Amino acid sequence: MECPHCKVEMRQTGKDTFSGQVIREYKCDQCGFESWEDDGKALWQVLHDDNEEKDKS
Ligand SMILES: [Zn+2]
Repeated sequence: MECPHCKVEMRQTGKDTFSGQVIREYKCDQCGFESWEDDGKALWQVLHDDNEEKDKS
């Protein structure tokens, strides 16, 4: 992830998994800006969805 202020790559400071989502936390070492991004679904949620698809067909 790129800092919107400095246009440099931000450092990943953490990774949380909750509600079936993976959230990556980032911080800019230059200006201290902190942000996060949704990294898509957590693995257990993907597996759960796959099982549901099989049940429907
Ligand atoms: Zn910055």
